Amino acid sequence: MVVTRFAPSPTGYLHIGGLRTALFSYLWAKKNGGKFVLRIEDTDKARNSQEATNAILKAFAWLGLKHDGEITYQSQRDDIYAKYIKQLLDEGKAYKCYTSKEELTQLRETQMANKERTKYDGKYRDFNGTTPEGVEPVIRIKAPLKGEIIVKDGVKGDIVFQAEDILDDFIIARADGAPTYNFVVAIDDALMGINEVIRGDDHLSNTPKQIIVYEALEFELPKFYHVPMIHNSEGKKLSKRDGATDVMAYKEMGYTPASLLNFLVRLGWSHGDQEIFSMDEMQELFNPKDINKSASIYNTEKLNWLNSHYIKNTPNSKLAEFLTQYDLILTSHDKKEILLDELKDRAKTLKEMASLVKEIIETPTFYNEKAVKKAFKGNVMEILSAFKTKVEFANELHLPSDYHHLMQEVVDEMQISFGKIGQPLRVALLGKMGGPALDSIMAIIGKDETIQRIVNAIIKHK
Ligand code: GLU
Repeated sequence: MVVTRFAPSPTGYLHIGGLRTALFSYLWAKKNGGKFVLRIEDTDKARNSQEATNAILKAFAWLGLKHDGEITYQSQRDDIYAKYIKQLLDEGKAYKCYTSKEELTQLRETQMANKERTKYDGKYRDFNGTTPEGVEPVIRIKAPLKGEIIVKDGVKGDIVFQAEDILDDFIIARADGAPTYNFVVAIDDALMGINEVIRGDDHLSNTPKQIIVYEALEFELPKFYHVPMIHNSEGKKLSKRDGATDVMAYKEMGYTPASLLNFLVRLGWSHGDQEIFSMDEMQELFNPKDINKSASIYNTEKLNWLNSHYIKNTPNSKLAEFLTQYDLILTSHDKKEILLDELKDRAKTLKEMASLVKEIIETPTFYNEKAVKKAFKGNVMEILSAFKTKVEFANELHLPSDYHHLMQEVVDEMQISFGKIGQPLRVALLGKMGGPALDSIMAIIGKDETIQRIVNAIIKHK
């Protein structure tokens, strides 16, 4: 069974790049009928907080990404790590190192002066002498001194690391007993049964160290997939200036979960030239072997294009639910179907949609000056009054066509062009030019409100 994981360090919010690797891991597990588990890497007590973990969980909930089983918290696993440290010490695969900080600094300076790679010199690796008093030792793992460590990467192919060039006996437990990052990641992945690790390629340099831990503990290696980073249009690492990096900011900006997930799946993965993927399709088609080898480029226009697509194709009841985040309660609005049908083709984001809705359903308190000048001239008040009277006397006014009919009558009776009634009516109803079809607007706000808005405009501008 395929078991994948997402292992965020909770330092603030869920990062969009993190979400992408989480999505890839999720899809791959689902495609294989496997499991996708969540591990919170919260060992850095100064930087990690429960709040940050909650932020990640909130983002997952928003996106509908469900992890399997209980969440694993690294901060609760000290006993497990201690057990493996002891095991490695007992087996002679790790040792206590008494080199002080000052000695290490000294060592580094000498190596730098000799233009050598800076590394621990292995002084205590096979030490038989008397250890210094008053120094709390760190624990180092015995890394191979020679040979190759090969990361068999599902995206990048075999990556060969020369032990001599990159490794030294790295620390697996600090002087206070706290285990270190690469040590605990390898243990957790192994004990949690993770057999496919999909993560950002910023972690690639950690992988040989983790492989050493796997080997020392005789754990079976997982498959690794290191996913190239997301870049901005200038080919640099994505930063806040290029677009939001916090996943929840996308919610606030009015993107639907489906749009964001679709956007992310295509950042670094493709299936022919297909752009639109439902969650079911993603699960069916995703395969980490198709992840691109080079970095992907973040493109806001693409995201907006996808969002328009998803807004257009979201049922109105769901749209109404989405819009509640902008304090818009449309659930009981009797004309919500007309309203949302009218706007779903126009809005690029839900936020934009919310403000378009508000422009329609809220009585205007302000009239755009230019629009007033342009529309309110000649016998315009007469035209508006004529129309208002027709609305007042009409019995059945429900559909846009009912209102359209009345406008047509005024046009015919007064022998004017459609624009002569259309423009002033628009300004009366919305306070400005632009916006959706007038007959729809009136059907949405209803008879009384239509009359009221015309009266308001006449009073204000006669
Ligand atoms: N905790 C790491 C991070 O948030 C991820 C570790 C991993 O995927 O192996 O970047």
